Amino acid sequence: MRHLQVPGRARVGKWIGQNIYWKRRHDGSENGEEEVPNESVLVIEDEENLCEVLRYNLEREGYRVEACLDGAEGLDSARSSHPDLIILDVMLPGLDGFEICRILRRESDVPILFLTARGEEIDKVVGLELGADDYVTKPFSVREVVARVKGMLRRSQSTARDGSPDAAHRVIRAGDLELDLDRHSVTLRGEPLSLKPREFDLLAMLASNQGRALTRDQILERVWGHDYYGDTRTVDVHIRWLREKIQHYPQSPQRIITIRGVGYRFEAWPPSSGQ
Ligand code: CA
Repeated sequence: MRHLQVPGRARVGKWIGQNIYWKRRHDGSENGEEEVPNESVLVIEDEENLCEVLRYNLEREGYRVEACLDGAEGLDSARSSHPDLIILDVMLPGLDGFEICRILRRESDVPILFLTARGEEIDKVVGLELGADDYVTKPFSVREVVARVKGMLRRSQSTARDGSPDAAHRVIRAGDLELDLDRHSVTLRGEPLSLKPREFDLLAMLASNQGRALTRDQILERVWGHDYYGDTRTVDVHIRWLREKIQHYPQSPQRIITIRGVGYRFEAWPPSSGQ
């Protein structure tokens, strides 16, 4: 594997200081310091200079950064290192960004920020329902990328912690489906169900709005956040995945009902389960 080396700083292995590196984060006051584990970002980008600039600036913000210049190596790194976020270029040698994203989305919900050229690439990122969380177009300002990374990590942490924006140690029961927002677990007819974090957030949001029609925009904003740059088709894709998991017959939706021209409505199933 070829990992970028930035001169002038001691580096052991591919992670700075390995996994025990902690950053002291200042919140503006001397007394208000808190120890926080710094998060890891994997940069998959074949332009070496760009890669280095991103690494330098992200490290300055306290992130652990791993960089790969090749698509296939990047995929390997993503699988072995489990980064908290991936910055992914579209055009890459080995395996392109679209393919990497497609593969990763089957395996994890790691936030992915696409780096795209203008034009056709953006259309694909937005239109192919790849499950990218955000994208920036080249040329971009590094400050913009760092800001996006911060926002995405903050959102992914808060959803992982809270389950849904208004979750507070609650259990949602909807027919034979039960969501424990505190434990981030779901059971269907008493059997545990394995959902990805985003699928859980989506289901929690839908189930806490039983019987209410929600537009794709509302769903996008509540589950992905108001500064999400993607497309409402992302919602459709996640609904499809969710239906495959929570419904016996995905082709005849019982719990998540499509409302043509509007969006979706969640109904408890079976309808009269004595809630
Ligand atoms: Ca490239």
